[in-house]
Amino acid sequence: MALLEAQDLTLAYDAVSIVDELSLQLPTGEVTIIVGANGCGKSTLLRGLSRLLKPAGGKVLLNGEDIHTRPAREVAKMLGLLPQTPTAPDGITVRELIGRGRYPHQGWFKRFSSEDEAAVARAMAVTGTTDLAERPIDELSGGQRQRVWIAMALAQETELLLLDEPTTYLDVAHQLEVLDVISELNRTRGTTVVIVLHDLNLAARYADHLVALKEGKIVAAGHPAAVVTEEMVKNVFGMPCRVIPDPVAGTPLVLPIGRHRVLRAESVLAAKGIHRTTNPDARLDAGPVPSEVPAAAPGTAGPEAGGVADAATDSVAEATAGTAAATAEADSPAPAAQDVPERAEEISEMLAFATHVVAVQGIGENFKRITLAGADLAHFGAGDSPLDLRIKLMIQPAAESGVPAAGLPAEFASLRPGAWLSRAEATGWYRRWLALPAESRGAMRTYTVRALRPAGHRDNRGTEAEIDIDFVLHLRTENGKLAGGPATVWAARAKAGDELLLLGPNAGLCGPDYGGIEFRPGSAKRILLAGDETAAPAICSILESLPAGITGHALIEVPDTGDIQGSSTRSGVSVQWLPRGSHPHGELLAAAVRDVVAIPAAGAVMPGADPEDVDVDSQILWETATASTQPFYAWLAGEAEMIKGMRRYLVREAGMDRKQVAFMGYWRRGRSEN
Ligand SMILES: Cc1cc2nc3c(=O)[nH]c(=O)nc-3n(C[C@H](O)[C@H](O)[C@H](O)COP(=O)(O)OP(=O)(O)OC[C@H]3O[C@@H](n4cnc5c(N)ncnc54)[C@H](O)[C@@H]3O)c2cc1C
Repeated sequence: MALLEAQDLTLAYDAVSIVDELSLQLPTGEVTIIVGANGCGKSTLLRGLSRLLKPAGGKVLLNGEDIHTRPAREVAKMLGLLPQTPTAPDGITVRELIGRGRYPHQGWFKRFSSEDEAAVARAMAVTGTTDLAERPIDELSGGQRQRVWIAMALAQETELLLLDEPTTYLDVAHQLEVLDVISELNRTRGTTVVIVLHDLNLAARYADHLVALKEGKIVAAGHPAAVVTEEMVKNVFGMPCRVIPDPVAGTPLVLPIGRHRVLRAESVLAAKGIHRTTNPDARLDAGPVPSEVPAAAPGTAGPEAGGVADAATDSVAEATAGTAAATAEADSPAPAAQDVPERAEEISEMLAFATHVVAVQGIGENFKRITLAGADLAHFGAGDSPLDLRIKLMIQPAAESGVPAAGLPAEFASLRPGAWLSRAEATGWYRRWLALPAESRGAMRTYTVRALRPAGHRDNRGTEAEIDIDFVLHLRTENGKLAGGPATVWAARAKAGDELLLLGPNAGLCGPDYGGIEFRPGSAKRILLAGDETAAPAICSILESLPAGITGHALIEVPDTGDIQGSSTRSGVSVQWLPRGSHPHGELLAAAVRDVVAIPAAGAVMPGADPEDVDVDSQILWETATASTQPFYAWLAGEAEMIKGMRRYLVREAGMDRKQVAFMGYWRRGRSEN
């Protein structure tokens, strides 16, 4: 049985190497199919293997001997080749052309033998060309002609048959017919077959051995079930796909993800009132968006870091491609390669989660705990503990007016787990969302994940993962109607079954270092947590995760004694609730902070420089420590003016290093978050 192999084979045209030091042994008696993108060197490899192209390096061995040292006729008796675009002499008939396949078997002056006749008849029978025998080749259709060429290669009756794209020009039925013929030849005669094919699914179906080529090198080789994977297809063809078992043959079936069809699917859904879509670019992050901060400038640090910009820095897209990507998006279309959609959860740190309310609970005079559940939440999270993890809630205008919510905002559909998202779309969502008409875009608000329970948790209401969010109800009554910010009004009216879209971290890509978590005590063993009611959920969540061995103070100012909640911690941090009553907002908290962080005795520490002023009306006050190596760490959040006052005290008067403190303006008096 003829054995064909390539050893360190390099093939080149005009010194440009197409196949690069490739080694390959073609299993005898099997069908090997070579696949790869256009221009990857498949046909060149076939030419090299068949002695048509002399190697620039390495060699091709036929039965252990260098194929180039053997006479052409001798090689042709063992190895037949059907090139991609063969040409036939003018006027030649089908029978004559197929008969040419017998030349290697005839001597110089030998005439056609009965054995040759029989071989030609066999080849015509298996290729269905018998009826065409006397027709001139020029009169045949492309498909018929291709079958004749295959018949010619078959008539050669070699142990090895190499075919370059033998199904080109054939309709689907004839493609299958040709491949069936070749398979039969392999099964009945034991012919070793090597085919270059561009149809991956047919290749997977007909190959015993599949070789995937990329840029002249073998990327994968073996049984199709092992070679045809989503990763291989992406790598070799640059094409995202799904691979499922072929329901007919059981072999791998590649389903390409065409962008066009994906978009059409979106439009079909939209027509039915189901909105999924394009994505965002931002981050989820933190504080409110100051109106003066240009929407197109997701910042890196500084005041706006607490706002959308900050949110921006949270997301993957942000943290990495961030501003540059956003700018590129604004200036020019994204490169085509970026437009290939992938699963949102595979590429975006931030995802949009569709949830519904499963429980509403009054947990204080001015607090409501709303529990959200949804299948999407299986993908939600950033490390083991939420700490002060912030998320964005998308409050739809319809919810405010009492009209049933219209569904998910279209801008976020492609960010849902399982949706298709292109990398180009994965940036700029915040800007696109802002550009929507105010009436339809709704409101985006920042809240803390008070608790996250995975599916199956004993405290869950149902079978899905759940999130608790504690809302401060800062409401007033105007003309007998509830008035307040959209998030608060939504929470005040929320009932089981209401839908809410939230933006948060993708558990698959986010860990404890996720940018939407600001509590970073580093190696500090003594901590201060201080905040007003909006920071109470974060402080309670942090307390629950603190290990034993940490000491310090948690100071929480709330509107009323009825807002004091139970909090639990294994740490030695003492918790003090400060009901405000008739005191001005922040007064009790500031005093308590002064108590626990006393101004050091003269000379003990250098008082700090005056921190630069932050106009909390126009900027977000958001300064967070990244990696404290100090023994003491402070985390302060709440109304911005109040935080600014405490910042001044801690930095200037108490001489605290700003690297060991997080100051976060969670909301601003008289100003909406956006
Ligand atoms: C990182 C982060 C985490 C947060 N976590 C939580 C949380 O877990 N729970 C929570 O309740 N809030 C939390 N907040 C605060 C919340 O985002 C704001 O209170 C937000 O303004 C509420 O949105 P809204 O639509 O109700 O009001 P907006 O439309 O933003 O504001 C409407 C009006 O209400 C005023 N206002 C806003 N908040 C308050 C308040 N607390 N008391 C009195 N007046 C107010 C504004 O000054 C404005 O005049 C958090 C904020 C940040 C930045």
